[in-house]
Amino acid sequence: KLSTSSTLGNQAHALFDRFVASQTCKEVQQNFAELCHHLQLDSQDYHHFYNKLKEKLNYWKAKELWQKIDKRASHPDYEQGKPCAKTKCLVLGAGPCGLRTAVELALLGAQVVVLEKRTSFSRNNVLHLWPYTIRDLRNLGAKKFYGRFCSGSLDHISIRQLQLILLKLVLLLGVEVHTGVNFKGLLEPQASGSTGWRALVHPESHPAASYQFDVFISAGGGRFVPDGFKIKELRGKLAIGITANFTNRRTAAETQVAEISGVARIYNQKFFQQLHTEMGIDLENIVYYKDDTHYFVMTAKKNSLLKKGVIKQDSSDAEQLLAQANVDQEALLQYAYDAAQFSTSHKLPDLEFALNHVGKPDVAMFDFTCMHRAEYASLVRERRGKKLLIGLVGDCLVEPFWPLGTGIARGFLAAFDTAWMVRNWGKGVTHLQVLAERESVYQLLSQTTPENTSKNYPAYSIDPSTRYPNVNLSSIKPKQVRHLYDVEDKS
Ligand code: FAD
Repeated sequence: KLSTSSTLGNQAHALFDRFVASQTCKEVQQNFAELCHHLQLDSQDYHHFYNKLKEKLNYWKAKELWQKIDKRASHPDYEQGKPCAKTKCLVLGAGPCGLRTAVELALLGAQVVVLEKRTSFSRNNVLHLWPYTIRDLRNLGAKKFYGRFCSGSLDHISIRQLQLILLKLVLLLGVEVHTGVNFKGLLEPQASGSTGWRALVHPESHPAASYQFDVFISAGGGRFVPDGFKIKELRGKLAIGITANFTNRRTAAETQVAEISGVARIYNQKFFQQLHTEMGIDLENIVYYKDDTHYFVMTAKKNSLLKKGVIKQDSSDAEQLLAQANVDQEALLQYAYDAAQFSTSHKLPDLEFALNHVGKPDVAMFDFTCMHRAEYASLVRERRGKKLLIGLVGDCLVEPFWPLGTGIARGFLAAFDTAWMVRNWGKGVTHLQVLAERESVYQLLSQTTPENTSKNYPAYSIDPSTRYPNVNLSSIKPKQVRHLYDVEDKS
């Protein structure tokens, strides 16, 4: 609560503290608006917003954060925001990858608008972080926004906490974030030549509908891929993933239970055999992480799901197999509960399901049999003489296999690579050259592991050569990407 006797300065400090500590998407937005109002700052003045905020908020806690942001922003790659000073970007999706990309685009000097259809961040599920991502987020002040961030040897974070950290950060950098706005497609420039590229949105009357941009970044997650991109399907053997979240009351007993950071079957046959004999649960692997919830992700074998009545009818088609009508929800809850109890040696007391965004026990089953990835990562579309650069990042570029935690690791690599592409675009590099370089780098993404990427984490920047050893930025030549330049037939 703000004390009535506090001076104006102290009020600003209290508002800043409230903003930093906000725990929901709505709270972040409201507290940010209040802070801006109090300091008489125009959040749409993206070029100067961050510097004006710094000037007006002379507060040690804020200064600690500015130090971190300034250190990153002073990297030579950003050339003090000159490369993209005239670039206008639309980012689709305020998932972790859309927001992480937005940070980089803002540091490059671009105007950035993010559209997000949801109005709340509700995913309890926990993401595994590779060492470089932990370092990256720490350097951006993650711990200031979320004190528990990767304490000790922890190497994970819930999706919603990561979104909250990044949302706060992008707002401070002058990025406009509109929630409750559904992106419906791109609108071509009009015949009169008076408008550039715009987005078709719902609600139609939203101010974001009139925003004109020359870069469109799609970070819509899952299978959201904009028109013009081709998807490759990689069909593997049947893989059924189950996630389950239980309430974490942070009691001493709960704190003591050890996490399981990936017990793959081959490494611990005895454990899986016991689980099978004693409980009838047959798993390929299981991971257990503690965050706001106790989070479990496991890959289960079909036969044990059939035997336990979780799946009602067998089918060779994975989609039919996991169709809602073919799943007994109660049996699924029991299966996940038993697996969680057994793998933590029944040491988690009073295990109770956490609730998901619709108030139901947070347990879900997913099919990883068929993984998608985009055939290419970028496109340039030209209509009425106006060019639009389009890039994909995150899950819509390469779908991750959750138990391995590739989502954020590869997602952030792609965010940096995409920012590098936009930098080239802003600097006026020819469009075929921009596309060729982006596709040269994209070829590496699916093979990246913590082992084959550079270990020199402090040197990581948006420049691909700081992260991928021996990357060849011209392995694909401009003439090989002509099909990625889509220009209307002028005849
Ligand atoms: P997302 O995080 O999916 O974000 C995409 C955003 O775009 C969403 O907020 C969405 O609302 C928004 N959006 C989509 N379409 C539109 C539109 N038309 N208009 C406006 N906004 C739009 N990974 C793990 O490692 N472990 C897990 O347990 C796990 N569980 C998951 C559970 C669910 C339900 C989902 C969807 C994903 C899960 N993932 C998990 C994947 C993980 O969330 C992603 O790898 C990670 O969040 C990075 O993804 P992203 O930013 O590319 O996309």
